[in-house]
Amino acid sequence: MMDSPPKNSVTLRNVLREAVNTLSSNHIEQARLEAKLLLAYVLGLRKEDIIVYPDRELTDSQEEKFQQLVERRCRKEPLAYIVGQREFWSLEFEVNSKVLIPRPETEGMIERLLNFAGDKTDEKAIRILDVGTGSGVLAIVAALEFPKAQVTAVDISGDALEVARKNSIRHQVAERIEFLEMDLMRDWNLPENGFFNYILSNPPYIPSKELGLLMSDVRDYEPREALDGGADGLDCYRCIVANAFPYLKTGGYLIFEVGDEQAGLVKQSLQAHGGLDAIETFQDLSGRDRIVSARRALG
Ligand code: GLN
Repeated sequence: MMDSPPKNSVTLRNVLREAVNTLSSNHIEQARLEAKLLLAYVLGLRKEDIIVYPDRELTDSQEEKFQQLVERRCRKEPLAYIVGQREFWSLEFEVNSKVLIPRPETEGMIERLLNFAGDKTDEKAIRILDVGTGSGVLAIVAALEFPKAQVTAVDISGDALEVARKNSIRHQVAERIEFLEMDLMRDWNLPENGFFNYILSNPPYIPSKELGLLMSDVRDYEPREALDGGADGLDCYRCIVANAFPYLKTGGYLIFEVGDEQAGLVKQSLQAHGGLDAIETFQDLSGRDRIVSARRALG
């Protein structure tokens, strides 16, 4: 009979067990999942493989690396920044601390876009604008879902655009996305090569005075300029509504992600602008108002 490894040897099973304890005692909620993801990252394995080879031993340098990553997570650095990746729309995107980590509820923006566009998405030579593209998830998934579309993605941060550009190369849509550095709060001067059928934005929307109340994972690590929406959190919406309107095709849609409790006020500012109709609110899976959209009126 083969000897099984000694109880305290550095097998996957043992280091995983220890990491789960360390993470949970540091209040990391999904300790087991996160420990597996970190271990898989260090070993270059898939998460599923971790439990397939429980007796495999780590080398000293692998173990050291793993312990360092667990410590970083205990200090609340987001897992996505540690491993440099996050899944969105079932695709992997590169992320770093210069971009907001894509959230699952933002996938609702793509669902809305698909819903408005109807069928034959592969034939639609539409133009889409993504305002505040960050990691580029919305622009890139839109380009993938509409293989004939031309997409413009803008962001105030050159570092974010760098990440978005890399992601567009990774997903082979770089030649259909134009990336532009632009402050959405100032005058827009996008190239005048036509109008957009869809303008998407998940802008910063946290009221400035509430930034301090965010979980430290977010507050201490994610870029403030991707979160801070000004005094009432609505500064970007007001600017986008005013600036985007001239770029929106007649019958085209403006689609916003909004923060909790903001849908009503965002709807009001769309109504107040004029020239827009079909102003609607949509909920996320947990029933919260999450998306507000409006159409440039035909009349
Ligand atoms: N558009 C990106 C996203 O939805 C970034 C949004 C932001 O930085 N506010 O994840």
